[in-house]
Amino acid sequence: MLVDAFGREVTDLRISVTKRCNFGCVYCHDEGLGPILRPRSPHEDEITPEEIERTVRVAREFGIRSIKFTGGEPLVRADMEDIVARTVNQIPDVSMTTNGSMLARRADALRSAGLKRVNVSIDAVDPKAFHDIRKGDLHPVLEGVRAAIRVGLVPVKLNMVVFKQTVEHIPAMLDFVGDSHGQLKLQLIQFMPELVDPHDWAVDIDAVKAWLARRAEKVLVREMHHRHIYLYNGTEVEVVDPVYNEEFCLNCHRIRLTHDGKLKGCLNRSDDLIPTRGLDDEGLRAAFRKCVAERVPYYGAYITQFPSRHAETAVPIEFPAT
Ligand code: SAM
Ligand code: SF4
Repeated sequence: MLVDAFGREVTDLRISVTKRCNFGCVYCHDEGLGPILRPRSPHEDEITPEEIERTVRVAREFGIRSIKFTGGEPLVRADMEDIVARTVNQIPDVSMTTNGSMLARRADALRSAGLKRVNVSIDAVDPKAFHDIRKGDLHPVLEGVRAAIRVGLVPVKLNMVVFKQTVEHIPAMLDFVGDSHGQLKLQLIQFMPELVDPHDWAVDIDAVKAWLARRAEKVLVREMHHRHIYLYNGTEVEVVDPVYNEEFCLNCHRIRLTHDGKLKGCLNRSDDLIPTRGLDDEGLRAAFRKCVAERVPYYGAYITQFPSRHAETAVPIEFPAT
C-alpha cells in the first residue's frame, strides 16, 4: 500500500486514455491537461493497451483496488474493450466515465470485457439545455444509458456538473433518477473553475446540499473525499464538492495516469507529472513511489490562501418550485 506524507492511502487510479472528444462542453477541464482535441486529430502519443496493462499490474502490486477510465472521451478509442479486458485481468473493479454518445453500440461488448460500472455525464434532461452546455445531442446519450442498464452496468451513475446553467435543471434530474427503480444514481459535481476560469459560473454548493438535505430521507457520508450522499425517493444522490474544500482533499485516495503515460498526483496540478513510458518494471514502481511521496492535499497544503466556501461571488440559488 502506498501512503503519502499526509497519511492518505492510495487505493484508486484514474486513467485518461485520450485527449480527444466529440463533444465540446463549455466547462470542460479535460483532467487538467489543456484543451481537448477533436476526435480525428492525430493521437500518436496515446498510451497503448499494453502500457495500460503493465501500469495496472504495478498498481495492483501497490494495493490499488479500483481503476476508472476517463478522457477526453474514452469511447473515441476503438480499443476500449481490449483495454478493459486487459485491466480486469489485473484489478477487477473497473469503471468508466463517458459522455454516453457512443455507449449504446458498445455497452454489450464493454460489459463482456468485464466493465463493472459506468458514469454517464448528463447535465440536463432537457435536450436544448443539454446541447447548449455539451454541444452534442441528448438522444444518443439516453440510448446509451438505457443500453448500460440493459446489459447490467447497474446502477448507472449520472454525472451532472452544478453551475449557473444547470441549477434550474436539478429538480427535473432528481425526478428522472427517482423514476428509475434504483437503476440510476445521481452525482452532482461542483463546477471547478480552477482549470477553466469563469469564476462567475460557480453557485453556492452548500445551498444545494441544504436543499437536498431538506428533501432527503437520509444523509450518508462516503469514505472517498467525505462526499455526502442523500437518499431521495430511494435513489442515491451524491454531492462531489472539491472547491476550496480541505476535508475533500484530506480524504482523497486517487492518483492519475495521463493519456500520454504520465503519473499525476492531483487533478488540479500539472507541475507534478512523472513520465513512465519506456521505464522497466522497477522504474515504473519508482515512478509510483515518487508520485505518491510528492502528493499533497491541494487545498490546505498546495494552496493555502483561498476564498471561504461561502464565497460572496457564488451565485445564490433559486430552485423552481417542485
Ligand atoms: N468525456 C467524459 C465525460 O464527459 O463524462 C469523461 C471525461 S470528463 C473530463 C469527466 C467528468 O468531469 C465529466 O462528468 C464532466 O462533466 C466533468 N467535468 C469536466 N469539466 C468540469 C469542471 N470544470 N468542473 C466540474 N466537473 C467537470
Ligand atoms: Fe470534456 Fe467530457 Fe465534455 Fe468531452 S464530453 S468536452 S471530455 S467533459
